[in-house]
Amino acid sequence: MRFSGLQVLKEGLTGNKGWGPHWRDPEPKSEYDIIIIGGGGHGLATAHYLAKEHGLTNVAVLERGYLGGGNVGRNTTIVRANYMLPGNSEFYSHSLKLWEGLEEDLNYNVMHSQRGIINLFHSDGQRDAFARRGNQMINQGDDAILLDTDGVRQHLPYLDFKQTRFPIYGGLYHPRGGSARHDAVAWGFARSASQRGVDLIQNCEVTGFDIVDGVVRGVQTSRGPIRAKKIGMAVAGRTSQVAEMAGFRVPIESHVLQAFVTEGLKPVIDHVVTYGMGHFYISQSDKGGLVFGGDLDMYASYAARGNLPIVEHVSEAAMTLMPVIGKAKMLRSWGGIMDMSPDGSFIMDKSPIDGLYINCGWCYGGFKATPASGHTFAHLLATDQPHPTTIRHRLDRFRTGRGVMDEEATGSQHNLH
Ligand SMILES: Cc1cc2nc3c(=O)[nH]c(=O)nc-3n(C[C@H](O)[C@H](O)[C@H](O)COP(=O)(O)OP(=O)(O)OC[C@H]3O[C@@H](n4cnc5c(N)ncnc54)[C@H](O)[C@@H]3O)c2cc1C
Repeated sequence: MRFSGLQVLKEGLTGNKGWGPHWRDPEPKSEYDIIIIGGGGHGLATAHYLAKEHGLTNVAVLERGYLGGGNVGRNTTIVRANYMLPGNSEFYSHSLKLWEGLEEDLNYNVMHSQRGIINLFHSDGQRDAFARRGNQMINQGDDAILLDTDGVRQHLPYLDFKQTRFPIYGGLYHPRGGSARHDAVAWGFARSASQRGVDLIQNCEVTGFDIVDGVVRGVQTSRGPIRAKKIGMAVAGRTSQVAEMAGFRVPIESHVLQAFVTEGLKPVIDHVVTYGMGHFYISQSDKGGLVFGGDLDMYASYAARGNLPIVEHVSEAAMTLMPVIGKAKMLRSWGGIMDMSPDGSFIMDKSPIDGLYINCGWCYGGFKATPASGHTFAHLLATDQPHPTTIRHRLDRFRTGRGVMDEEATGSQHNLH
């Protein structure tokens, strides 16, 4: 079924009896041309683009739980292209362009909303750094406007401009940035991939690899062995564990990141606002909840839930920036497992095993990458060549020291990114 306004009207008038499941629920076949491990945003997007751009449909996505139950359904949904370093800037620029056409491409309402992002700055040095970042964004074809304090006040009148600890000097405004409904992104890619012939296999955990003479031949799963000519890993926070099954180590540490949402409120926050000094970012969902987050829990863990000190830390930062938030009741908080790379940039490459490809290291920024990650990973899997926007994202860059992309300029260390 193609979704349209007319279809909604027709179903509304006929008792909503015509809607079917969004994707098929097939039994796994014994062999595929390509297997994608991980039914998160990146795995599902890869399947969509493999089918759509490369005509490859003898493909399966294997997901240990349910589609979209990982980080893709747990994030704070910020979509932006305000990256600075060569390698990252053109990749995220490419991703934002794909976001802008995604709903038509998928025939699915992912609620992509370009409401604008404002990154606040609080010192002269930070202003210089943001001005440089903004100029670079404009040069590469993205948008950026440097705001002074009054400029920020016009957009965000509810902030505390009198705070003395980190006075607001201004902000870098990125109007094309914004947010999207995270579950819908997973569902939209899943529906499209399934319609094009890709098998989406849920409750199917990969437990091992069949490797002969350094070449991958298939996987062992909780639903039996499945053979494949090529296998792509898109398992985010579980990357180290899955790579270990194939016998190699990756430069990834898994850390917990928490998110929070308040009760539904009338519209108060029009933009996405980030407050780097306090490590806090916030937006308002279409249901009215204030959605916000902060820093990592700062110790390696595979637990998809967080600790209380971070709840306190994030709440403190929130109160410093916008004391009005103290009146809102917090409804829920949750955690996700982040695949942190040493330089804060992702890895997309062939692995040391022939036929096995790796996609990981998205840190806490991989939601905005979802379309481009799928698009470029599909390119790598289909052609054996990196897409022009991922040439620098090699697995060996930490061993060789060549091409490290340290976006935060904090040094090559996991917990600083
Ligand atoms: C709290 C929080 C806030 C965030 N905020 C933002 C944000 O605002 N903007 C942004 O850009 N990014 C954000 N992120 C990061 C972003 O969500 C992730 O980088 C991105 O979702 C990771 O890619 P994915 O969607 O493919 O991961 P996932 O959805 O985690 O998909 C990986 C899948 O692999 C499956 N899997 C693992 N092991 C196996 C196995 N052995 N066999 C089969 N399947 C397996 C998992 O079950 C999972 O479904 C945030 C993350 C969190 C947790």
